[in-house]
Amino acid sequence: MTTELVRVGIIGCGNIGADHIDRVANQISGARVTALFDVATDRVKELAAQVGAVALPTASEVINSPDVDAIIIASPGEYHAALTLECIAAGKPVMCEKPLAPTVEECEAVLAAEQAAGRRLVQVGFMRRNDVGYRHMKDNLTAGNIGEALILHCEHRNPDVPDSFTSEMSMTDSVIHEIDTARWLLGEEIVRVRVIAGKQTPNAASHLNDPQLVIMESQSGVIISVEVFVNAKYGYDVRCEIVGSNGVTSLGTQDLGQFVSDTRRTVTMPANWRVRFGDAYRAEIQDWINGIKAGEPRGANSFDGLAATLVAQAAVRAVKSGETVEVPVLEKPAFYA
Ligand code: NAP
Repeated sequence: MTTELVRVGIIGCGNIGADHIDRVANQISGARVTALFDVATDRVKELAAQVGAVALPTASEVINSPDVDAIIIASPGEYHAALTLECIAAGKPVMCEKPLAPTVEECEAVLAAEQAAGRRLVQVGFMRRNDVGYRHMKDNLTAGNIGEALILHCEHRNPDVPDSFTSEMSMTDSVIHEIDTARWLLGEEIVRVRVIAGKQTPNAASHLNDPQLVIMESQSGVIISVEVFVNAKYGYDVRCEIVGSNGVTSLGTQDLGQFVSDTRRTVTMPANWRVRFGDAYRAEIQDWINGIKAGEPRGANSFDGLAATLVAQAAVRAVKSGETVEVPVLEKPAFYA
């Protein structure tokens, strides 16, 4: 493993991009931030000054800079595929935030380019794989502690979303995390999906179905239920439980602490995804850097990105049609074994 610091370029410096800048610069080891690009030029200059990086005028200049060894893409999803393809063409490792791309065709183009390049360069930002609670669940399942998985129950509750958020975005932005988590935990693909919109909260915009219940099925018949409720108001609450043939494993408590006073126990919970998954994001970026230094790719790969987008798009069709939508099972190329 090389002892040189990995020089990281970051494209898209909004919510999560700015967090990743801070993570690479201040929270992990083995890397530093050298170049940034964002269309919001004033903000990116300020962020660059804070970490001793340069703000470059285009994304291509970040990707091709001789001072950049690896790239994080945190721009809006519609730009992910084109930017990832440029990173592959430059022969540089890239951590692309989810989704790998909004369409299956764009994801397939990334897989084709990466395989033609002959080297695994792409990691996708499915950070729940780095969360201690989810890893504990996977370890329990793999060790046989709960027997065979039969049902996977998930809940994904956000306090609120902007008015521009749509029922389809609940699938492509929120449930896509449960899609990846389910594939990773169970080690099999999702083959069908149905979305039910029942009684609606008065707190959502009138165009938004909220909450929605997503029912999926895996290849071996495991039922996966996901309640997605993006205007839950009370806090950020992600839950997960696998019901097995001999037991149950679930995420442990995600409470941030408590106090007792006047005969009441008050528990503080995460206010948002940033707080809840802060440690997981840190572990994800550290693992990505360690993988680059060791010359061995880690984390979710392009095939995982494609598989997640395939199911998310099927869920979008299920929202629109109200029908059960079948998801074709893709053959995983040996390149991604
Ligand atoms: P955001 O706050 O809107 O940040 C995106 C940034 O990219 C903004 O500064 C935006 O500038 C800029 N931008 C727009 N067009 C660009 C372009 N062509 N090239 C480069 N930058 C461009 O969004 P976000 O919430 O950070 O989300 C960014 C990505 O991360 C999305 O794909 C999202 O799904 C993903 N994400 C993942 C997680 C996770 O849990 N893994 C969490 C949050 C977000 P303007 O604001 O001026 O348009």
